[in-house]
Amino acid sequence: MRTPFVVGNWKLNKTIGEALSLVTELKNQLSAVKGVAVGVAPTFVALGSVAKRLEGSAIATCAQDCFWESTGAWTGELSAPLLADAGATWAIVGHSERRQHFGDTSVSVGKKARAVLAAGLGVIVCVGETLAERDGNRTLQVVDEQLAGGLGDMAASVAPKLVIAYEPVWAIGTGRTATPAQAQEVHAHIRQRLTERFGAVAADQIRIQYGGSVKPSNAEALMAEKDIDGALVGGASLEAADFIAIVKAARSG
Ligand code: PEP
Repeated sequence: MRTPFVVGNWKLNKTIGEALSLVTELKNQLSAVKGVAVGVAPTFVALGSVAKRLEGSAIATCAQDCFWESTGAWTGELSAPLLADAGATWAIVGHSERRQHFGDTSVSVGKKARAVLAAGLGVIVCVGETLAERDGNRTLQVVDEQLAGGLGDMAASVAPKLVIAYEPVWAIGTGRTATPAQAQEVHAHIRQRLTERFGAVAADQIRIQYGGSVKPSNAEALMAEKDIDGALVGGASLEAADFIAIVKAARSG
């Protein structure tokens, strides 16, 4: 049985003060909610303050990205050991906005994912096709390629610290959501690939989040699908009430 994992990706939003007030509300209102794991991914500048505010709560602090080197002459970058030092316990890598605007590739995403795991953090590896790729019937091929690069030579033992986020690019921030059936089809395919790669026991442990315009109104139907184990939430994670409703919809049991 996988515990669903719901993560709010705040992207380039919220001052430190705004981040602290949102996370304080989440901490207070989610303390009694069981059967679901929760995380928030603030901007890098707010990450340390958010992690400190979340001390004593089960909500995880996640980074939105991570460079693959630990130290050195890499102006502007942040490494996994530094993120861990600031209080992060998870990092997202390969988000489509990084692939689209900042040149992340399957190879660099794999390097980032390995660096995150090597520092002892959990990693959320994002994959997903564009609209042109879906319309060209290339969804599964694109997901396979991104998955192979993102996983690289990881061993099956990473399963508890590995999450895959399936995020169709055409559904991110557009208000268009994959139907539960469309999402489940790709999630089942990813689970199959994870089974081939790591064996059935590890593949059964690995959580596969759905992301792409998840809202309180569609969360329950998406989360009811067999291979959807939580959500990576952008826009709707910026309002406490919406995010809390999504977290509650994802609860198992
Ligand atoms: C995301 O950025 O990961 C995302 C899913 O965004 P949104 O929920 O706004 O579509």
